[in-house]
Amino acid sequence: VFDFEKDIFITRERIKPKYLNYREKLQQHLPDDVIQELKKIGVIAKRSGFRAYLVGGIVRDIVMKRKNLDIDIIVEGDAIELVKKYAKENNYRYYYFEEFMTAQVTLPSGLKIDFATARKEIYEYPGAYPKVRKASIKEDLYRRDFTINTLAIEITEDNFGTLIDFFNGLRDIKDKVIRILHQLSFIEDPVRILRAVRFAGRFGFKIGKMTERLLKLAVDENLLLVAPTGRVNTELSYSFNEEKATEIIYLMNRYKILHQLIPEFVFDDKREEVINRLRDMIVTFEIFFGHKVDRVANYLLALMYHLPLDISYQFLERYHFSNGKQLFKLFFSVKGRFRKIPEKNSELYMIIKNIKKDVLVFLCSYLPAEISERIIYILKKEEERKLLITGNDLKELGLKPSPLFKEILDEIFLKYLDGEIKNRREALEYLKNKYKLNEI
Ligand code: ATP
Repeated sequence: VFDFEKDIFITRERIKPKYLNYREKLQQHLPDDVIQELKKIGVIAKRSGFRAYLVGGIVRDIVMKRKNLDIDIIVEGDAIELVKKYAKENNYRYYYFEEFMTAQVTLPSGLKIDFATARKEIYEYPGAYPKVRKASIKEDLYRRDFTINTLAIEITEDNFGTLIDFFNGLRDIKDKVIRILHQLSFIEDPVRILRAVRFAGRFGFKIGKMTERLLKLAVDENLLLVAPTGRVNTELSYSFNEEKATEIIYLMNRYKILHQLIPEFVFDDKREEVINRLRDMIVTFEIFFGHKVDRVANYLLALMYHLPLDISYQFLERYHFSNGKQLFKLFFSVKGRFRKIPEKNSELYMIIKNIKKDVLVFLCSYLPAEISERIIYILKKEEERKLLITGNDLKELGLKPSPLFKEILDEIFLKYLDGEIKNRREALEYLKNKYKLNEI
């Protein structure tokens, strides 16, 4: 039974829209040149008898004071007609899709502005790509996923900067809650299950009571399994690339989303530990070693390392994670090397030497902490390797360049790893003694 008063399931009639003056906030939030463009669009909209609105994530982020420059504009009227005038008058590049009633303009700065005609969408079956019909801004906003994404700021010349809140989006942002707009939302589009946990995790919001109940029902009904696999891929990839990826994964686990997507999924203490360590390891590798980590592949591996490879491959293929496959393969091919870990760092170095950084990121999250620390230590030393001694030093010491150089440099480095050589001075000393270079 829905408690409409408490959970306020929105119907288009019930809530009175709120209008707020956001002119100044808009100007503070967006760069001046973008504001000038919005004003130009607003003038053309007015002249054409249309109304234009900034909508979606950017409005939510203006309210939440978060950075965002994804500019989405909805036109009550005809977006393509408006874009043609706007782009031609300013000599901007543009293109449009008549069928979808959408268009995009690229400013000389490279910034892109997306336009769409206000529309209703008709879904013929859960997860289907919808059919599109012209509609009012309110109807356009009503089809969105969550109330926090339903805010609009009008940019039409005669009402520039007015924030319009039809569905209590402002209240939900203030209360930190993710709420769908109507009971059928998850059935209409099961991908919203993934979006709900992504936004909840990203912003640290809770999922509204009724929304939570309907989300659980949708999961129980296996609706995610009928969602288009490409869209699932997109949402999972976004999630794993979020700064709060681990929080999102916990929510996916709590709502049994992962159990549904991944066969034989288990979330035990070990996995929780691996996921937490992975989050820190990603930062370590990116900051210390300047390596752009493939977060998607690494989180997928963290969720599935227990499965036989062929089952993981089935999942990865079904959801089009081709990069992921590569990482799984590499991890399984080197995993066995770590059954017995040598005492000496030089020997451990020989084991990890040719392993790709992305695989090391995962290994360092998965292997016992003291081994990971040693691997990180070795990688840091490897970074310092050039400061220790170089081929040039060998030349200056009087050695003739030859393949032997590499062997000598490797030898010095291995001794450095084991603490037998501590610095450049000791390295030079060692060389002089060993190769009797001071006699040359
Ligand atoms: P982000 O900050 O991650 O870019 P966003 O809110 O801008 O998030 P997009 O995925 O770019 O999200 O989508 C733009 C807008 O389109 C959203 O604000 C949302 O209102 C709407 N939207 C996106 N996906 C859905 C969906 N599955 N169902 C309903 N509305 C959606």
